[in-house]
Amino acid sequence: MDITVVGAGLGGLAAAVALHRSGHTVTVLERAPHLRETGAGIGIMPNGVLALDALGLGAPVRERSAPLGTAGGVRNRHGQPLLATDQRAVEALTGAPVVVVPRRWLHGLLAEALPAGTVRTGRPVDAVPISDAVPTSDAVVVADGAGSRLRAALFPGHPGLQVSGEFAARAIAPAPPGVPLAPGELLDHRSGERFGCMPMADGAVYWYATWRTPDAPADPTARHAWLRARRADWHPCAAELIAATAPGDVHVVETARLAAPLPTFALGQVALLGDAAHAMTPDLGQGACLAFEDAVTLAGVLDTTADVAAALARYDALRRPRTTDLMRQARRMNRILTLRGPAGRLRDAALRLLPRGPATRAMAAQFRFDPRPGQRSPIGT
Ligand SMILES: Cc1cc2nc3c(=O)[nH]c(=O)nc-3n(C[C@H](O)[C@H](O)[C@H](O)COP(=O)(O)OP(=O)(O)OC[C@H]3O[C@@H](n4cnc5c(N)ncnc54)[C@H](O)[C@@H]3O)c2cc1C
Repeated sequence: MDITVVGAGLGGLAAAVALHRSGHTVTVLERAPHLRETGAGIGIMPNGVLALDALGLGAPVRERSAPLGTAGGVRNRHGQPLLATDQRAVEALTGAPVVVVPRRWLHGLLAEALPAGTVRTGRPVDAVPISDAVPTSDAVVVADGAGSRLRAALFPGHPGLQVSGEFAARAIAPAPPGVPLAPGELLDHRSGERFGCMPMADGAVYWYATWRTPDAPADPTARHAWLRARRADWHPCAAELIAATAPGDVHVVETARLAAPLPTFALGQVALLGDAAHAMTPDLGQGACLAFEDAVTLAGVLDTTADVAAALARYDALRRPRTTDLMRQARRMNRILTLRGPAGRLRDAALRLLPRGPATRAMAAQFRFDPRPGQRSPIGT
């Protein structure tokens, strides 16, 4: 089949790799003049690694990451565990580790898995069917991201993207010498702000910080100083990692989610994938992982029948319940993790009481993915 993918982000490229590996002829149309990916590092959960395994890219991703060890989970701002999850147990339960890699590297890995000429940059697509300038396709995959224009055109009554009011700064820094890391996510019950850090290969650390207040300066240098001062009485790794990062290397975004789930991911010959289909706030670290799952499932259903509309309807049936559930979970997690004042203190006390084993198993259940369409891995079933 000839298949056009709109958007060359992590989701669109993963779809192109999956479809290419299934023997289809794929063209990726990307609006930007050059292939690019920003945002420092990315955490790939076990389900995302399993999906990358199915794309033939799991091995380099595992090799590129540093072992996370057993420590993880949620801590108070001083780094004391509130809910420790056992990463090694998660790996044993799911069959894959959590990995943290540079985004640009991962994007390049996907792009390099495609034949030369597959991705055409400087090619914005604003309507489906795609204009005559593009080869006629048997199917179109809409992967133009959270702010998808095609989604808006295909679902004119849908409320679209909704900003969360929470900002996230992300960067990669060298591990600060002499300062132990507090890996996982640190919560501040006073402000609802968070700080996360995870070791990467080559002595680097991926870190992020969140806030809701409008007080953050817009100028990157002033904002860097503001953020550092705001983390001064947290675990020392927070301020040290911020200090070890040049202000220009900190990427800041306001996070966003779809205001409501889409009624379908398949309209005739057109399928939606990745953030275009199910944008959620990054509270579960699942956005790109689910896009990789989408990609594997999409290629799998197209392998089973020559009836494209029927295959895409099956893709919708397989993907929408899971992604809608995780959209809900991400929203709930965001509410819980950003509680402040008395509610934040109560949250911390409740987290301390949760037993580690069941919490680890509940986490592992979220990471289930079987690349065979319609199958579920045994985790959590
Ligand atoms: C702060 C933050 C932290 C995150 N952390 C994680 C994490 O740890 N783990 C994880 O799995 N996920 C994480 N995510 C989510 C993840 O980044 C996204 O889910 C993922 O990047 C979505 O990929 P995508 O390809 O669907 O969309 P995008 O990456 O947005 O790609 C869309 C592409 O389409 C192109 N495009 C747009 N419009 C058009 C058009 N009209 N025509 C042609 N091309 C077009 C764009 O230029 C872009 O290249 C995080 C997100 C944020 C904001």
